[in-house]
Amino acid sequence: MSAIRIGILGYGNLGRGVELACRDNADTELVAVFTRRDPSTVTPLTDGVAVYPADDLAAHQGGIDVLVLGGGSATDLPEQTPACARLFNVVDSFDTHANIPAHFAAVDAAARETGHVAVISAGWDPGMFSVARLYANAVLPNGADYTFWGRGVSQGHSDAIRRVPGVVDARQYTVPVPAAMEAVRAGENPQLTTRQKHTRECFVVAEEGADLAAIEKAIVEMPNYFADYDTTVTFISQAELDRDHAGIPHGGSVIRTGSTGAEGRNTHVIEYSLKLDSNPEFTGSVLVACARAAWRMAGEGMVGAKTVFDIPPAYLSATDDAELRATML
Ligand code: NAP
Repeated sequence: MSAIRIGILGYGNLGRGVELACRDNADTELVAVFTRRDPSTVTPLTDGVAVYPADDLAAHQGGIDVLVLGGGSATDLPEQTPACARLFNVVDSFDTHANIPAHFAAVDAAARETGHVAVISAGWDPGMFSVARLYANAVLPNGADYTFWGRGVSQGHSDAIRRVPGVVDARQYTVPVPAAMEAVRAGENPQLTTRQKHTRECFVVAEEGADLAAIEKAIVEMPNYFADYDTTVTFISQAELDRDHAGIPHGGSVIRTGSTGAEGRNTHVIEYSLKLDSNPEFTGSVLVACARAAWRMAGEGMVGAKTVFDIPPAYLSATDDAELRATML
């Protein structure tokens, strides 16, 4: 069987993660990278992979089985995913949870125009965590859901700190509160406020001579980003930031506690957790598994937008069904 021909649109952290995942999956082959930048300024890690202008996508319809989108959720994907779903089977990682229904509708309409499959909001959250929530809720209808994120780098919060006057560079870690997690794991069903669930640690490089107290105040009081959390700010040098905070780790836990039975009900705890050294490499790996599933679904004549909820689990796997039943069931 020939390899699934993968294209990548948008070559940032996630685009590179998708590229590396293609290397790890023998049934996929990265055939092209597309970028909005000058292609001569973009160098894939893999020898021989051509880089084309994003404007040339339509000319490559015959050569790509699934296009994986590496663009950002804020402004790239709302435009790119519907446009690309008219040309290709696609997979994206759209992660603005509140806007997923609108994104799904726009992509579904576009994909149906031309009969493609478009998997949206793949990754780990949304993605693997979503599946964990769904299974846990289906099995334990009487219960409560909890999601803890971290310890991990939040790119959005790091960007927000960089916009504070006097800040040169920054890294923000989201950290779950251990006592809150333990209470949940113990089946206590606690009611937790935002502040009780996570803290935020900020490592900040300031301009020379900057007013550090003013920077710290601007960060910890920033609405939506930090005001609702216990936030610590630590000033460090650029060299320390580059040395100690270069990685993009993340992860977290989805926990559902529930009960079954009659009197003296029995309590159950379901926990799915991820500890990721590299958020984009892991997310890229999920997107490639979803590209495999998208290609299979397209081969069966399915069309339209899909999410991880619509993908039969076995379609994600490169292992055939009989082997899966023999080894993993
Ligand atoms: P990123 O590195 O900022 O890349 C986003 C886009 O910016 C790229 O596609 C690229 O498009 C452009 N770009 C990258 N480097 C550039 C540079 N040096 N100069 C100019 N433009 C550049 O973002 P990311 O870390 O890959 O994350 C992408 C999205 O993934 C996030 O917005 C998030 O929504 C999503 N995500 C989802 C999950 C999940 O679990 N669902 C997890 C992690 C991330 P061009 O090549 O076209 O310029």
